Amino acid sequence: MSGKMIQNIFKCLICNETVTSDKILLHKQREPDGKDYGIFWPELHSEIVDCHDIDIPIYHSTVFSKALNVQKVYILDEGSNLSGSMKEHVVAKAIQLAEQKKQTIFNIASSGNHALSLAIQTQRHGYHALLFVPESSDNKIRQLTTFENVFVLALKDATYEDAYSLSNQINLPEIFNANVSNESLLTGFLPVGRKICSLSPLPSHILAGVGNGTYLAGLTWSFQHTLKKIPKIVPVGMKGAFPFEFAVKNNKHIYKFDDYGVDKTCIDEAAGSIALESYSMPQLFHALKLSNGFPLSGLQNNDLRNAYLLLMKDENLIKNGVIPEPTGIMGLAAAIKYKEKFSRDNILLISFTGNALTCLDSLQRLAPELMTDISLQLCKKRKNLSFNKNMYQNIRYLDKRASHKDIERIIYDWISA
Ligand SMILES: [Zn+2]
Repeated sequence: MSGKMIQNIFKCLICNETVTSDKILLHKQREPDGKDYGIFWPELHSEIVDCHDIDIPIYHSTVFSKALNVQKVYILDEGSNLSGSMKEHVVAKAIQLAEQKKQTIFNIASSGNHALSLAIQTQRHGYHALLFVPESSDNKIRQLTTFENVFVLALKDATYEDAYSLSNQINLPEIFNANVSNESLLTGFLPVGRKICSLSPLPSHILAGVGNGTYLAGLTWSFQHTLKKIPKIVPVGMKGAFPFEFAVKNNKHIYKFDDYGVDKTCIDEAAGSIALESYSMPQLFHALKLSNGFPLSGLQNNDLRNAYLLLMKDENLIKNGVIPEPTGIMGLAAAIKYKEKFSRDNILLISFTGNALTCLDSLQRLAPELMTDISLQLCKKRKNLSFNKNMYQNIRYLDKRASHKDIERIIYDWISA
């Protein structure tokens, strides 16, 4: 049976109207609060029929189940992906959708795992990546510009939110918008969801650190179509930088901060998750209700360190290189900190959403004891990619108030070069 016959339908989580995929952009313009967010939930969908299998390792850890006093703990290692994080699935979905429209350039606002995954995967396909970033994320920009197929637009005096907003406004026929607020990408997590559904016994809770919330929302969507009882999702966030916990407290789809609620130096090591806005928040909110889950927040750098210290006691995970970046280990950190939230018969699945290799400096500060194990893993990664010898040739700095016309001209200069 071919899924092509099914017209994809989405429900707006703000007004409950259902629309077909071609009407999404138009509808978003009519939702004043929703235009930058992932506000649609896929309903009837062709992927449910067409899902492929995925090879992603899931371990179980008796070291963790003893320490947390629960029946079982699964560890799903998204860090083992080619690009080292769960963003791999969103990017794979974007490439699949863009190919149907013959688009070969992908535009996002990111200097983190999403950008890295896009750079690596587009290069393997012979495609290009356009990245909007705040100029201040200088360290990461340097790494990204080493990819020959990447072009970086670095915005002066800009926040990540400015970069996101500009990136979302680009509307050129050659370019696919691969930002997380593109709701067509949510179904990209279906293969991971199916892999989890094949576990026996099934997990009762799924814990993961949350930046935008796309991951847990996408998994919940997958469970909805496979399982009778959806595991409770437990989105985890850092203290004062997790607007989603306030969305839940106030029973609102969207909640954003004006500033961080805590001194950033107490939480800065989990850079990929500290956020003023989370662009998939309405979807995560919906997923939380569907699964009857709950958020856990209040983590600080020291909680991440405690998680690494526990991880070091599991020789099997260390031997297999299952060492996440600080943002990726938040689920375990929350399970330790809030042990009393779980009971003896619970079965936890904790997703390690990113690989330590992308954040070695942070790890050196948080858990220097782990660095020997990590250096052994280093040589195995990053093969078969081509890099620029002359760094910074594929970057342009511009004012965040630059006009559309200017930005389009810069993009076309790059495309035609
Ligand atoms: Zn609506």
